[in-house]
Amino acid sequence: FHYPLPVNEPVLSYAPGSPEKKRLKEVLALLKQEQADVPMYIGGLEVRTNKKETMHPPHEIKHVLGHYHTGEEKHVKQAIEAALAARESWAGMSWESRAHIFLKAADLIATKYRAYMNGTTMLGQSKNAYQAEIDSACELIDFLRFNVHFLSEIYRQQPISAAGIHNRMEYRPLEGFVLAVTPFNFTAIGGNLPTSAAMCGNVVVWKPAHTQVYSAQMFMRILKEAGLPDGVINLIYVDGPTLGKVCFSHPDFAGVHFTGSTGVFNTMWETIGKNMHTYKSYPRIVGETGGKDFVLAHKTADPDLLVTALLRGAFEFQGQKCSAASRAYIPSNLAEEVKKKLIAGIESFSMGSVENFTNFINAVIDEKSFDKIESYIEKAKNDPKAVIWAGGKCDKTEGYFIQPTVIEAKDPLYVTMCEEIFGPVLTVYVYNADKFEDTLELVNKTSPYALTGSIIAQDRTAVEQATVKLRHAAGNFYINDKPTGAVVGQQPFGGARASGTNDKAGSILNLYRWLSARTIKETF
Ligand code: GLU
Repeated sequence: FHYPLPVNEPVLSYAPGSPEKKRLKEVLALLKQEQADVPMYIGGLEVRTNKKETMHPPHEIKHVLGHYHTGEEKHVKQAIEAALAARESWAGMSWESRAHIFLKAADLIATKYRAYMNGTTMLGQSKNAYQAEIDSACELIDFLRFNVHFLSEIYRQQPISAAGIHNRMEYRPLEGFVLAVTPFNFTAIGGNLPTSAAMCGNVVVWKPAHTQVYSAQMFMRILKEAGLPDGVINLIYVDGPTLGKVCFSHPDFAGVHFTGSTGVFNTMWETIGKNMHTYKSYPRIVGETGGKDFVLAHKTADPDLLVTALLRGAFEFQGQKCSAASRAYIPSNLAEEVKKKLIAGIESFSMGSVENFTNFINAVIDEKSFDKIESYIEKAKNDPKAVIWAGGKCDKTEGYFIQPTVIEAKDPLYVTMCEEIFGPVLTVYVYNADKFEDTLELVNKTSPYALTGSIIAQDRTAVEQATVKLRHAAGNFYINDKPTGAVVGQQPFGGARASGTNDKAGSILNLYRWLSARTIKETF
């Protein structure tokens, strides 16, 4: 069975009066009334414990969406056991049947549950309708369909045979279980990390961020409705240390598929390294981590294109994207115009609840995040090396609201030019427009990360210089565009250096990591 290259799921507009907007509003109202009681899913069973956590919309913290049941060490062990028990029949199932389940899940989201995936993402993660649509509907659907396509491409790659010899490759799943650990910021990543491994015939223990549980469990229910057999993916809500302790000391641990912070990923490597003697095989360690993504403007940049790239790149979804534009290098000839336009842009944004469809800016994910972002802004307000161009107000009385903020750094190595903030804060450095080549050096050495970056220039030589000199500064490099919004199948996503293992989500490269090939030679 070969699944041909699909087309990307069309993005719906949610324009006033559109049927999708009407439906989404109905579902948002239902979800707000419902008081969800969210279980873990282990071996296909709904597991409820006597320990519960409350879920609130980040933009309306007094409202309760419901509760989810949290687990402890024994639940991690049960999830691993359930996964291993499902392994043989899942790995032995025909590829057609396995693929069918994920294709059906994609169709269920596209038709029946689109408003539920978007609604839980909007309320649980404070994403507005457009940001939710491109994530929890389109990107998630695309991951499922494109990965089926990529995998069917892999399966048909076979070695050559010769006279009297027949060779073939069998693309086996890994021998053990895969751990998927997923972040709050993309529901689609939450869907992709467990399913890409599972699609290859692996069994999975899936732990989402506690701030992603609401949309993650919705996707899990859809997978079950699509026919995913019990135990293939086990969804548990436990703290990181408990999860790591049990999973990384288990002999059947076969790999981890991770998106999250660089610090957590480094700890995983260290722990896995220390426990190396415990495992049957070398585990696959695949991670997408932090970013400190740049926008470098040349003196020939189109100022309007540049300002749009900055406003969208830095502030969509409150800057909570690993790919967000967070440091910009502006040539001195354009600085005044760009400053005025950035300020005007920020003043035109409305901020508030996702339920009002005109709010471009919503809340940041939780109090810990709010406090961290606020502390960077407060420090900048009192630092002679920084000037606040726009924004800077933070208020957590109703929800975790941070006004989009632009800081001008007088020193190109000022702390907010270097460290990942993961919030709506853009730092700009104005450079001498005649010193483009020195600035290329600066961009390259400022940050340990290398996820995304943009060059904005009309001059072709400048584009070429940046493309060559910044070869290792970004895994996704954009010419005359914002550095966010990679589309599955179009811009395979991931970076190297401190940004991860660069196994390109949304591409064939990622799928190879979840397979362990066996070569079979037969002579006759
Ligand atoms: N793929 C997303 C983008 O291109 C970013 C993913 C992330 O933040 O982890 O914007």
